[in-house]
Parts: sequence; C-alpha cells; structure tokens
Amino acid sequence: MTALILHGGAGARRERNYDAEVAHMRQVVEAMRPRLDAGESALDVATAAVVMLEDSGLYVAGKGASPNLAGAYELDASLMDGSTKRAGSVAALQGFRNPVVAARAVMERTPHRLLAGPGAERFARELGFEARELLTPQAQEIYEAWLADASSVGPQNIDPLLEEHHDTVGSLALDADGVLAGACSTSGMRFKTPGRVGDSPIPGHGLWVHPEFGACVATGSGELMMGSSTAFLAVEEMRRGATTAAALRTAIERTAEEQVLGPKDQV
Ligand code: ASP
Repeated sequence: MTALILHGGAGARRERNYDAEVAHMRQVVEAMRPRLDAGESALDVATAAVVMLEDSGLYVAGKGASPNLAGAYELDASLMDGSTKRAGSVAALQGFRNPVVAARAVMERTPHRLLAGPGAERFARELGFEARELLTPQAQEIYEAWLADASSVGPQNIDPLLEEHHDTVGSLALDADGVLAGACSTSGMRFKTPGRVGDSPIPGHGLWVHPEFGACVATGSGELMMGSSTAFLAVEEMRRGATTAAALRTAIERTAEEQVLGPKDQV
C-alpha cells in the first residue's frame, strides 16, 4: 500500500473560494501517485509534492509567500525521513522559492539539522540553488495597503498572529517499502516580526515521523505548537497505541491549552 496526504494550511475562511487550491491538490496527487506506484521513495515524493505546492503560488509558501513586517520574505521548511529518522530544516531563509529543497540539502549534505537566516542563505547559494525575488508587484501592493491600514495604530501594534493568512503546506507519504516521510514549507504568519521562526522547521513541533508508528505534519499557530510539541505528541500517542483520530485529538487539545496559558489569545 502507498499513501499521500497533503494539507494547504490552517486559517481557511468560509467566504473564500478554494476551488483553485482543491484542483491543484488533485493535480499534485495525480502527479505523485504513479511515482509512489513505481517505487519511488517516500522522501522523494513528499519533497516533490511540497515543491509543487511551493511553485503554485496558491499557498503561503514558496511563490505564494507573505512578507514580514519589514516587507521581506523569510521562509521556513523542513523534511524528515522515517527510514533513517534523519531530518533537515531551514528557517528565516531569504531569497529562494523552494526552501524545502534547501532543507533536504541540510539533511543530506551537512552534519546539522537546521540552518537559519544568512547562514542558510549562504549555504543555498553555495549549492547553486536558484535565487529568486519573491516580492511580486501584487504582493508589494498588498503589503503597502496593509501598512497604510496599520499606520493609524502603528504596525508594531498589529498582532501578526491574528492575521488570517496561514496557508502553510505539508505532505506525508508512505512508499511501497512501507517507509514514511514528511515535508512542510511556509513563510509563516503574514506580517510577522522579522526573525520570527515558527513550528514548521523545528523537529517535533511542525513535523515528526516515526519509522513504525506514524507521522504528523502540523499547521496553525506556531507559537502554540512550540508550546506543546504538537507533531511529536501526536506520533507519541500513536506509538502508545492510540488510534490516529484519538492521537490527533489529544495533540490538538494539548495545543489549544497553550492558548489558555499564553499571554494573549492566539488563533
Ligand atoms: N505553522 C505556521 C507558522 O506558525 C503557520 C501555518 O501553519 O499556517 O509559521
């Protein structure tokens, strides 16, 4: 048996039409199914699926990324291979459209798990990854309109956690050899404080894969998930024998408790 699960982020709005995203997700599944059937590894397929999502411009990842408070793009991404438990991540990476590919290089070509900021950028440049300006004229317009709106109260008083745009992408794949892998990518919360890093690149918070018992890729407020190790917790619950549904319920409930404990309401 093979399997592929994708998500296009939390923060869905009832009034918004998601037909384009749903159609695109179907295309990703149709593109990945034959690759899994042909025996390609879960890691390759999970990565390739996230690259397609990053390249679509439909999500807040890769081409569709949202700027931070300073109008710059800082991208987070990670992946994890269940066969080896190896993982790789980049955080606050600027200048590249496919951070998940850089995360994979961190896993495969360095002794580290996570590279961040200018060091991650230098690493990606040295490997010859294609540098891309992400700020499109349309994104610049949205950013400027938002800044103008925010100027009455001052952008520093706007809580980026309450902004609606949280369309992180994630994938989990199970290959024909029974190996699980996962990947995720995001520009994080729209208009976040420069330097802010969310759960997605932090092992165990936004993504966790156990070789035997299961895998979880998360979406939602990174601030909450970093208080409860959401992805690790869900997989640990499965390892202790919980059904997938029960494990996820526990992980979500524990994550939501962070909201109660947190300094202020966070979506
Ligand atoms: N988890 C992401 C973050 O906090 C946001 C999301 O899932 O949409 O960076």
